[in-house]
Amino acid sequence: MADYLCEQFGLAGRRALVTGGSRGIGAAIAQGLGAAGAEVLVHYRSREDAATEVANRIRSAGGSADTVQADLGRKPDVDRVFDQVRERWDAMDILINNAGDVIARSTLADADDEYIDRVLRVNLWSTLYCCRAAVSLLRNGRDPAIVNLTSISARNGGHGGVSIYAAAKGGTMSVTRSLARELGPGIRVNAIAPGVIMTDIHRTLSTEELLDQVATRTPLARNGEPEECAGVVVFLCSRASSFITGEVIDVNGGLWMA
Ligand code: NAP
Repeated sequence: MADYLCEQFGLAGRRALVTGGSRGIGAAIAQGLGAAGAEVLVHYRSREDAATEVANRIRSAGGSADTVQADLGRKPDVDRVFDQVRERWDAMDILINNAGDVIARSTLADADDEYIDRVLRVNLWSTLYCCRAAVSLLRNGRDPAIVNLTSISARNGGHGGVSIYAAAKGGTMSVTRSLARELGPGIRVNAIAPGVIMTDIHRTLSTEELLDQVATRTPLARNGEPEECAGVVVFLCSRASSFITGEVIDVNGGLWMA
C-alpha cells in the first residue's frame, strides 16, 4: 500500500515553484508539495518572514525549500525570478500559479484605471508571464505539470464588487484549457477553483455576515481551509492524475455544481 501511494502521489525529486507561497492557500500548497517529496521554491511578494517560515517548516519536515521574491504583475520581476530558477535548476517539473489578490471590492463603475490594471496584473498577467517563462524549463522536466488558481467567481461572478477579479479568474480558467492543448503532450495544465477558503482575502474583505451566508448555502455547511486545496494540487501534480489535463477542479464544499 505504502509503495502504491508513493508511486501514485509521491513527488520525490521534483522541482516546484509555488507563487504566493508565503501565506494562505499557497503556503499550504508549498508544504503539501514539500511533504510529498518535492523541492520547493516558495515565492513571496512582500512577506519575506512568512515565506522563510514556510520554507523552514518544509525543511523541518525533512524536505528541501528556499524562497524567492517578486511582484509577479511586473514583467521585469518575473524575468528575474526565472533567471534565478535557471541558475538553480536546469529543468523544472511543477509550476503553481497561486499568487493572486482581490485588492479591494469595487463596482466596475467606480473602478479607476489603476485599480483595474493592478487586479489584472496580479491575477492574470502574472499567470501568463509565469507560464510563458516556465515552458522551456518544464519541457525538460519530469512529468511536468502546471496548476493554476482560478476561482468560483469565474463561474458565478463572485459576491459584491469583484467583477475585474472574476474576469481575471475567467481568463485563468480559459488559458488553463488553451495551454493544455498547446503544451500537450508533455506538460499537463490544470486548475483548481476554490470557493470560500478562510485566508487573509476573506479576513480583510468579507464580512462575518457574508461568510456565514455562504457557509449556510454550502452543502458541506462551512467554508474551506487552505489545506483542503493543497491535497488537490498535490494530486494534480502527481502520477495519480497522469491522464488529466485542461481540467478545473472545484474545491468549494458543493457551493457550485456545474
Ligand atoms: P492570500 O492569503 O491573500 O495570499 C496571497 C499570496 O499572493 C501571498 O503569498 C502574496 O504575497 C501573493 N501576492 C499578492 N500580490 C502579489 C503580487 N503582486 N505579486 C506576487 N505575489 C503576490 O490569498 P489566498 O486566499 O491564499 O489566495 C491564493 C490564490 O487562490 C489566489 O490566486 C486567489 O485569487 C485564489 N482564490 C482564493 C480564494 C479564497 O477564498 N481564499 C477563493 C478563490 C480563489 P505576500 O504575502 O508576500 O505579499
